[in-house]
Amino acid sequence: MNPHRFNPPSPSSVSSLFLRFSILLLLSLPDAKGKAIWTAHLNITFQVGNRIISELGENGVFGNHSPLESVSGAVVLPEGWNQNACNPFTNFSRPEKADSWVALIERGGCTFTHKINVAAEKGANGVIIFNYPGTGNKVFPMSHQGTENIVAVMIGNLKGMELLHLIQKGVYVNIIIKVGRMHMPWLSQCVMFLFTFVSATVAYICLYCAWTSDISVAYTRRRRQVKADVKKAIGQLQLRVLREGHKEVDPHEDTCVVCFDAYKPQDVVRILTCKHFFHKTCIDPWLLAHRTCPMCKCDILKR
Ligand SMILES: [Zn+2]
Ligand SMILES: [Zn+2]
Repeated sequence: MNPHRFNPPSPSSVSSLFLRFSILLLLSLPDAKGKAIWTAHLNITFQVGNRIISELGENGVFGNHSPLESVSGAVVLPEGWNQNACNPFTNFSRPEKADSWVALIERGGCTFTHKINVAAEKGANGVIIFNYPGTGNKVFPMSHQGTENIVAVMIGNLKGMELLHLIQKGVYVNIIIKVGRMHMPWLSQCVMFLFTFVSATVAYICLYCAWTSDISVAYTRRRRQVKADVKKAIGQLQLRVLREGHKEVDPHEDTCVVCFDAYKPQDVVRILTCKHFFHKTCIDPWLLAHRTCPMCKCDILKR
């Protein structure tokens, strides 16, 4: 391979290509204008026997149309054979001692807006909706347009079922819902993408530098080897001292094609493998630079 002919793309051109690609990708992200997600801290308190149990966890997320406010009260279930509160006449079994209450409703059967409105019309201060069975503790920000005056959060199915079973056993459960932390899913995607982009660029530049360095070292080594071979080949070429009477010193004969001087007695000439000869002082530097006979282009390394 001839390194002079090798012309790889420069790191700067590849970096600019990466950059253009990343900007295009960022612009095409579907959630680039998405809303922030707010988590909800749930402080749950209930009494079992003489023991008061209290637990605090970041178990929920606020709905997209919920006010970001704290709300508290007794957790109350919808009456009836299911907990989805889709029937507009659903009643809630509110404990007498509860001043304020929060409805615990199961997801499904009708829209989030419908459920929340049913609970709000019955006087709930807030609504907790728990996810479908089989979804573990997965939650997402609900869409419930038209219910902007009541706090609505989603919790996972496991946590919802835990509360449901406690209340069905007659345990009075109190809850305080507080605004937790903000998450920006699209921002995380951007950060992840930029991290990948920077890592890929750095890795490429490192590989490129290592690669060109290897090529350069190999090329220098090869040049040194060729030069040593040429020097050795020159040393093996025959030398001759011209004398009076030799036909080469005849003024009508050819001159040295390197210096254009005629050959004279006592001149030292170097005879190449092609039988062409020249002044030693003329041809040795020429061969070191060109390796070939100046007349017939014969390569001294090949003969
Ligand atoms: Zn000469
Ligand atoms: Zn020759």
